[in-house]
This record gives sequence, structure tokens and C-alpha cells, in this order.
Amino acid sequence: MVHKFDALILGGGAPGLMCAIEAGRRGRRVAVLEHAERPGKKILISGGGRCNFTNIHCSAENFISANPHFAKSALARYTPEDFIALVEQHRIPYHEKTLGQLFCDRSAQDILDMLEKECRENGVQLFPKTAIHNLTRSDEFVATAAEHEFRAPALVVATGGLSIPKMGATGFGYDLARQFGLKIRETRPGLVPLLFGAEDGRHYSDLAGVSVGVIAACNGQRFREKMLITHRGLSGPAILQISTYWKEPDSISIDLAPKQAVTAEFLESAAPRTIASLRTALRRFLPNRFADRWLEIHAPKSWTNSSLQQLERTIHSWTVLPSGTEGYQKAEVTAGGVDTDELSPKTMESKKISGLFFIGEVVDVTGHLGGFNFQWAWASGASAGRAL
Ligand SMILES: Cc1cc2nc3c(=O)[nH]c(=O)nc-3n(C[C@H](O)[C@H](O)[C@H](O)COP(=O)(O)OP(=O)(O)OC[C@H]3O[C@@H](n4cnc5c(N)ncnc54)[C@H](O)[C@@H]3O)c2cc1C
Repeated sequence: MVHKFDALILGGGAPGLMCAIEAGRRGRRVAVLEHAERPGKKILISGGGRCNFTNIHCSAENFISANPHFAKSALARYTPEDFIALVEQHRIPYHEKTLGQLFCDRSAQDILDMLEKECRENGVQLFPKTAIHNLTRSDEFVATAAEHEFRAPALVVATGGLSIPKMGATGFGYDLARQFGLKIRETRPGLVPLLFGAEDGRHYSDLAGVSVGVIAACNGQRFREKMLITHRGLSGPAILQISTYWKEPDSISIDLAPKQAVTAEFLESAAPRTIASLRTALRRFLPNRFADRWLEIHAPKSWTNSSLQQLERTIHSWTVLPSGTEGYQKAEVTAGGVDTDELSPKTMESKKISGLFFIGEVVDVTGHLGGFNFQWAWASGASAGRAL
């Protein structure tokens, strides 16, 4: 059976649906081809089920790309305020959690319902359970799925990255980019827990569950947020954020007590200097179990001021050499992807192949944690949708 449209959108995730809505509003006949049994599955699990759908402090600095300027145009064309207006128009209750992060009050289902309703109202046709494995181009793009053939002069690739394969991530978008001769920037897991090396594993993995407010730094970037110890390594927002900047064999530096002089009172006190009183001092700034372990491992060599100052320095610059990451199974995003040099920043259209667009996570633009990846999804999707 042959279906003819003005545009085919491969992938019914956040950017694919937004692109379809914008194109549908402009009267285009659009098909969203989605291989899962329903679109937007990742939206439903996002933000712990409440979807951190945008961030009101969004700017180009919140994104990582080989070209740090690329995202600016799309982000300016479709802003957090634009998405918030849509959310309010649909009367979806939401709140700011922290650092400008907006979450649904009820559930991520509200966002997906809104997108599906907008699709229906704008004449978008959704084809779930439609996996595209073959795509050709002659005078138009032809996508084949089982007994169906979809044809259109424009094709938008919104098939996402490699993260969370159990949710259907395929890497098909990268294959398509290669098929059409577009360059790919090497992909790697982003926003992902890091694994301890052998020695740190022996020292700390039994402290799984302990959380510390830290500054994590690597490759010129630093994030002040919570760090969580896991059975296998480190996680929590500070670590997820810095993980996107980490590459083997880099180390990361962790300040375990930002802006605190942990040993100051102890140094100034006239009381006897003992391990017990030092432990009490550390416990004021660090979780008890972590403070105790830190002292076991970094006990001062003597009670001189300089030994204690050395201990203070270790607390502010714990050097961790991760042995790797938890990989795509646990990564919230895939960093790298279709090279932005290949695409128009205004429309996301390929510079080489007219009518071919790439949006969302498949592109080499990766947001920080905190609603930025969805803002990129909306912005890149809307930019392409308005150009169809
Ligand atoms: C657990 C988790 C929580 C997250 N929470 C947040 C959050 O709160 N805030 C935030 O900003 N970001 C969050 N993210 C990141 C955000 O979900 C992604 O950046 C965003 O969903 C990317 O959208 P995408 O459409 O590009 O990719 P995806 O969401 O992966 O969608 C791609 C779609 O394409 C389909 N597809 C793939 N191959 C084919 C094919 N060959 N044929 C047809 N269809 C195909 C897939 O089934 C999928 O539906 C989270 C990610 C994860 C994993």
C-alpha cells in the first residue's frame, strides 16, 4: 500500500511530534512513522515520570556540541516561554523544582496527551508499530515498512540516539546520515553514572546511597550539585552533568565541601588533637559514614598544622579516575551525532541533500541535565517543522 505525504517524520519522540505539529499547523500533510507500539515512550519515563519539560534559564551555554553556536538560532526561534504557553493553553499544572527546571505536577502523561492532541487537531497521521529499515531517494523519499510504502519530498530524521536500548533506541538515524554522505561526530553516553577504578571501588562502594553536596570538575567545566555513591561508582546530578564532559583517561576533581573550611575550627581550638575530635569536625560538613571513611583513608600523618592543611586540601580536590561509565544502558542521552556542519542552524535541513532534516538527540547537540534536552527537542523540531 502506498501512502503519499508532504513530509515523513521518522521517530515519534519529543522533537518528531513537535515538528509534525508545526508542519501540520501550516497545512502540510505529515506522517509520523514510529516503530514502537506508541509514540513518546521516553517522554513518559522522563524526569522520574513527571517530565522536566524545559528550563527557564535555557541558553546556548547549556549545550555541548562541536560547534557551540549551532543551537543558538533554533533556541531563539522556539523558547521555553513558547513551550510554557502551550502547556498553559492545555491547562497542565506544573511547578519549578530547582534551578529553573519545570516539571508536571501530575505526570509526564500530560505532556504526551498534549502533543498527541495537537497532532490530531493539526491533521498529523501517526503510524505506530511502523519500523523503517529501508529508505531510498529518487525524485522523493521512499520509506518502506512491511507492506507499506511511504513517499514524500521531505524526510525528517528524529530517531534519537543510542541511550536506553531497551526502549527501542536503534542508531538508525546515524546509518541514514551515513547513507546520505553526512559526517557523524563520534557518539558516547552522556548524563551517565561513572564507574570507580579498582581502588576507589574497594574504598567506597559499600557506602552506596550516601549523598554529598559537591563541585565536580573536569575539562574546564564544573557543576555544584549533589553526588551519590553507588555500588559501582558515582552518580547524582553533579556526576551526571560532568560525565558528558568526561572522556577516558581523564580524571575528575571533586570538592567535597565547597566553600567550607572543614578543619578550621579544629586547627584553631586549644583542645587536644585526636582522631575522635577530628572525626567530629569532619562530620559537621560531610555525611557521617563518608567522613569516617575519609579519615580512615586520609588520616593525617601527624598533628601539625601543615598535615591538617594537607587533609583540608584532599577534601577539596578528591581526584577520581573513573574506569568507565555505565554505558548507553543507563545514559540519559547520547553525546555526539550528526555533525552540525552538515545542517542549516535555522531549519536543520541537510546542506547537501535538500528535503532531508535531522532533529533532536540524533544531532550533535547535547543538553545539560535539567530540562535542556527537551528544550532542544522542541526547538529543533519546531525549526524543521516551520521549514517543511
Ligand atoms: C530516563 C530518562 C529520563 C530523561 N528525563 C529527561 C527530562 O526530564 N528532561 C529532559 O530535558 N530530558 C530528559 N531526558 C532526555 C530526553 O528524553 C531526550 O533527549 C529526548 O527524548 C530525545 O528525543 P528524540 O526523539 O531525539 O529521541 P527518542 O526519545 O529516543 O525518540 C526516538 C524515537 O524514534 C523511534 N525510532 C527509532 N528508530 C526508528 C526506526 N528505524 N523507525 C521508526 N521509529 C524509530 C523510537 O522508537 C523513538 O520513539 C531523559 C532521558 C532518559 C533516558
